[in-house]
Amino acid sequence: MSAGGHGLSGVERRGLMFVLSSPSGAGKTTLSRLLIDKTSGLKMSVSATTRPMRPGEVDGRDYFFVDKSRFETMAKEGELLEWATVFDNRYGTPRVPVEAALSAGQDVLFDIDWQGTQQLREKARADVVSVFILPPSAADLEKRLHSRAQDSDEVIRGRMDRASHEMSHWAEYDYIVINHEIDEAFAEVQSILQAERLKRERRTGLTTFVRKLQQQLEK
Ligand code: 5GP
Repeated sequence: MSAGGHGLSGVERRGLMFVLSSPSGAGKTTLSRLLIDKTSGLKMSVSATTRPMRPGEVDGRDYFFVDKSRFETMAKEGELLEWATVFDNRYGTPRVPVEAALSAGQDVLFDIDWQGTQQLREKARADVVSVFILPPSAADLEKRLHSRAQDSDEVIRGRMDRASHEMSHWAEYDYIVINHEIDEAFAEVQSILQAERLKRERRTGLTTFVRKLQQQLEK
């Protein structure tokens, strides 16, 4: 899954798939929003889900909220790049918008779990950059889940129980960011993206660029 995009200094490069995963409450949603707001050439992948909409969420912006049978159809018809069951609900990445963004030379940001990350890596290892966000402590995680006030106590308990299991996948990721403080964590995530955009293998236009430089020098 590659794409010709325009990278830094006007040198063509392949688009990349930038994945952020974490247990819920570790700050991944805030980090994703900051990245989208402050980074050019980066588009958020909006997932489809069967889970109920939370207060404040908007259909088509936060998720495409679909029922189980629609989700099954999407999965069966190959409309999803990856999908998984999380907290008894189904979540999946619609394929077409991702492919369209990559071919338009944009990078794509994914807020997906470890199961989805594994599937993306199997399909497009060279183009996937994955970051796992960890909370600084269990107390901090619980505090953030409560202050979000979007879920019932029972749901929060369930998310705490799941957090340890989700964290066990940390070593499958390329980078680990510990979210002590949001600005610092954001700066770290941003530098990862910036460095990955500059990777030689992704910058398909470099051969031409250097050849031109050499021609100019040899004149
Ligand atoms: P939430 O219900 O809190 O929005 O999301 C629950 C979990 O599902 C989060 O860990 C989130 O990253 C994950 N998730 C959201 N969309 C997708 C998706 O399209 N695919 C996969 N595999 N996981 C997703």
